[in-house]
Amino acid sequence: MPSRFDTTAYRYSNEIVILAITILLVLLVIGLTATATVCLSVVFIIGMLILAYFFSKSHHRELMAQAQQVTSESLPGLIPVLRESAARLQVERVEVYVINQRSLNAYTFGLESPKVIVLHAPLLQAMDRDELQFIIGHEMGHVKLGHTRLNSLVGGMAGIPSSFGAAMLLEIAFRWWNRACEYSADRAGLLAVGKPGKAISALVKLEAGVKGSHSQAGLEQALARIEAEDDDIGNVVGELLATHPLIVRRIEQIRKYAASLEYRNLQGRMNSNL
Ligand SMILES: [Zn+2]
Repeated sequence: MPSRFDTTAYRYSNEIVILAITILLVLLVIGLTATATVCLSVVFIIGMLILAYFFSKSHHRELMAQAQQVTSESLPGLIPVLRESAARLQVERVEVYVINQRSLNAYTFGLESPKVIVLHAPLLQAMDRDELQFIIGHEMGHVKLGHTRLNSLVGGMAGIPSSFGAAMLLEIAFRWWNRACEYSADRAGLLAVGKPGKAISALVKLEAGVKGSHSQAGLEQALARIEAEDDDIGNVVGELLATHPLIVRRIEQIRKYAASLEYRNLQGRMNSNL
């Protein structure tokens, strides 16, 4: 019977040590590259924030130079709309500007207070008082919920340099959040005006555009386009990369929220803020 012996005794004496060193090196490289990526991302986000800050400053200066600030002298009719919306939504003081543009649009910006709401001038002709209150309430909702500031931060994160697939994923996630913010702001607008029909007619007019919003035919065409939105698969896929949900969905959500007990309770409490 052959004597038992160690069948791996010929292993080169340093093989295990070298394997251990190799594994350590691999871990070190992974650790270093991960740290470098994190550091670079932090630097990138800080850079984006600084850029956003200066962009917002210069945009504000530009507005002061060429837009009309809403005051009790310049646009007295808008003041009660602003006051009422701010009281209902309990929103901080905001500056509102009207700017000469050819489209129906409104937006908010600013990293510090007071935040700024910008209304494109044609809105004042196209919308009635209640519809304007919905639009102003919508923008005030963005301010109150912190979207105005967060947008600069999270938007910056979506721009972190990364491989194509990862960049796409970040972009989609960011837009997904953007659309959720729009639903929240629509609820704020609805609470500011308290009339679901006016929230919906404001959205239909936004879709109709400057020209369409002034004629019955234009409004009917807009309504038909909105109703067809869901049927077009291109629209449904395109929505994934859009900052705003399809109007048909925003209207659905407004209807749903307006019918909820939550809305009625909150509306009652907000009315008592007046
Ligand atoms: Zn919005």
